[in-house]
Amino acid sequence: MAGTPYNGPAFDSGELKDLKQKLVDGCHILDHEGITDGFGHVSVRVPGSEAFLTLAGVSPGCATLERLVMLDFDGRYLGGEKSPPYEWPIHACIMRARPEVMSVCHTHSKWSSLFSIVKGGLRPVHMYAKFLPAAGPPIYPASGLIGTVERGTALASALKDSAAVLLRAHGDAVVGASLEQAILRTIQVAFLGQLAHMAVAHGEPLYMSEEELATFSAEPAFLARPWEYYLSRAREHRSP
Ligand SMILES: [Zn+2]
Repeated sequence: MAGTPYNGPAFDSGELKDLKQKLVDGCHILDHEGITDGFGHVSVRVPGSEAFLTLAGVSPGCATLERLVMLDFDGRYLGGEKSPPYEWPIHACIMRARPEVMSVCHTHSKWSSLFSIVKGGLRPVHMYAKFLPAAGPPIYPASGLIGTVERGTALASALKDSAAVLLRAHGDAVVGASLEQAILRTIQVAFLGQLAHMAVAHGEPLYMSEEELATFSAEPAFLARPWEYYLSRAREHRSP
C-alpha cells in the first residue's frame, strides 16, 4: 500500500548536505576495507521521513555526491540520479519495519557470504559480536536478489530485531541507529567471519555464550574513534 506523500527536505537542499557526505564517506570506507566490491550499497534514512538516500547504481568505491538517489519506501523517485540500485527494497523494507534503523548496509562480503552457506552460521567468537545474538545473525534462506518489495519484506522478517542478517549465497544486510554504527558493524561482521574462519583451522572454537556477550552489551561509547580511523584510512588512500 502506498505511504503518505513525501514532505521532507528536497534532495538538493542544504539540509541533506552533511548526510550525503557521510553516506559517500561510509561507502568509501567499506570499499577501502575490502568489504564491498563492484556491488553493494549503503543507505541513510532522511530524518523524520519515510525516505532514504542511497547509491545511484554505482559501486560504493565509486560513490560521489553526484551519484546518489533519494527514494521513498515505495521506491518512488524523489531526486538525484535516476538509477536506483536494483535491490532498493532491502533498504526500504527494513527501514519501514524498523523505525529506529537510520542506516542499512548491504554487501556481498566474502566473509558473510561464506557463513551464509555454512551450517550453524556465523557464531560469535569475539567481543565484537556484542551486537549480535549468541546464535549469530539469522540467515535469509531464499536465493536470488532482493528486487521486489515482497522479497524485501521477507528479508526484514528474517532480520527481525537483529542488527544483521546473512543472505544465503549472497552476502549480508547490517543495520544501525546511525550511519557510522551501520558501517562499523558491517566491518565487524566481516572481522568476525574472518576470525571464525581462522579459528576452525585450529579445532573447535570456544564460541561465546549469551551471558558472555552480555558482559560487552553496551553499545560502543567511542563510535567517533573508529569512524575517524577508518575515514582517515579511506581518505589517505584517495588523496591525490
Ligand atoms: Zn546483493
